[in-house]
Amino acid sequence: MTLFDLVPTLGRSHPVALEPGLWPRSARMTDTADLVVGGVSLIALARTRGTPLHVLDLGEVDRRVGLLRAALPEAEIAYACKALLCRGLVRRLDALGCALDVCSGGEAAVAEAAGFPAERMIMHGTAKTTADVGRPVGRIVLDRPDEPLPPARAQRVLLRIAPEVDARTHPKITTGTGAQQFGVPLAEAEDAVGALLARPGAHLVGLHCHLGSQVFAVDAYEEAARRMVRLLGRVRERYGLTLGELDLGGGLGVPYLPGDADFDLAGYARRVLVALAYESGKAGLPRPRLTVEPGRWVVGPAGVALYRVAAVKGRFVVVDGGMSDNPRPALYGARYHARLVGRRSTAVLVAHTVVGRHCEAADVLADVPLPADLRPGDLLAVPVTGAYQLSMASNYNAVGRPPLVAVHDGTHRLLLRRERAADLLRRDVG
Ligand SMILES: *Cc1c(COP(=O)(O)O)cnc(C)c1O
Repeated sequence: MTLFDLVPTLGRSHPVALEPGLWPRSARMTDTADLVVGGVSLIALARTRGTPLHVLDLGEVDRRVGLLRAALPEAEIAYACKALLCRGLVRRLDALGCALDVCSGGEAAVAEAAGFPAERMIMHGTAKTTADVGRPVGRIVLDRPDEPLPPARAQRVLLRIAPEVDARTHPKITTGTGAQQFGVPLAEAEDAVGALLARPGAHLVGLHCHLGSQVFAVDAYEEAARRMVRLLGRVRERYGLTLGELDLGGGLGVPYLPGDADFDLAGYARRVLVALAYESGKAGLPRPRLTVEPGRWVVGPAGVALYRVAAVKGRFVVVDGGMSDNPRPALYGARYHARLVGRRSTAVLVAHTVVGRHCEAADVLADVPLPADLRPGDLLAVPVTGAYQLSMASNYNAVGRPPLVAVHDGTHRLLLRRERAADLLRRDVG
């Protein structure tokens, strides 16, 4: 077997069409090799805004929230803003009627600054401080019954349970198995509910679970839904209390590479809704109100990043960004797709490794076939960059974090500007 058999695109020239399933629905390649997203030329944007550049297609965000709504018409959709957070995005999600998951007082502060109603915020976290919970939010998801609560307020809370369902995702982003630090183990759940009911200031309204991230196993969600409704039944038996809310968390996966499977949204919705109806019927409970908390699924595929090639060293392509604007490869061994844009090449495709600018061997973005005539100054476009990149970005090597530009209907707007040395110096007060 040769490398050409393993990677069928090798040896051919650069395809004109965009790889299906990876780019925003609005994306297209023009005859002049421009990449147009949301009706905006990304080549022109890269020229005016510089690189690395992160682009967010707001129309794609709308479309994806619409797909979730259609699949789960009665569910509350709480966008998990740790995936990507800025005021422009928050305002959009507010207009779409989403709720918002925040994981810290800082995230709540950004959402509040965008005018997002506190009532529709849900606060998470494994180590919330009194400062975190001091910000008004509609609901707090307690990781354990004795977590801090806001003073002198009847705060609506949910209790996070580890349903002990293995979502079969990457071990570093699995959270629902009970062998981990998140939530109350299923076996201790009823006692924990009792402890919480005895706490003044806590108004328990429901239960929560979250299986992990980048999950494709829709049967795991079904099993979690079953276990959680059965637990609601046991809570009612023991305490005579009917909890009205069930939050099944997020974690819906997205494809990153050509040929990756897509998340079975219809199958997920069907299995979860059937499980809720069946189990609540069996337990004689009213069907709980469902909340889902997708982050990655909403914004990941709405993002495209542009990098400029700094050097080509044999099979290595060095670009002007890397782990400071995308730590996922270094954290999880994640790999991305990339394609040449802005210039037509008829050269054959050869295997390349796209590496970042940082002094770390783990700073690898992509293992991908690229034209043999790739040269410094070329632009590479990377799809599915909307989630867990800018929100996890760092100032490593004192490289300023890149800007985020929203595109939609032929217009573009800067959401986050590029970080400058002056920004870094502002907090260096010594
Ligand atoms: C991270 C997280 C989410 C969102 O996860 P995605 O994989 O981005 O959908 C939702 N709920 C909780 C509690 C989380 O920790």
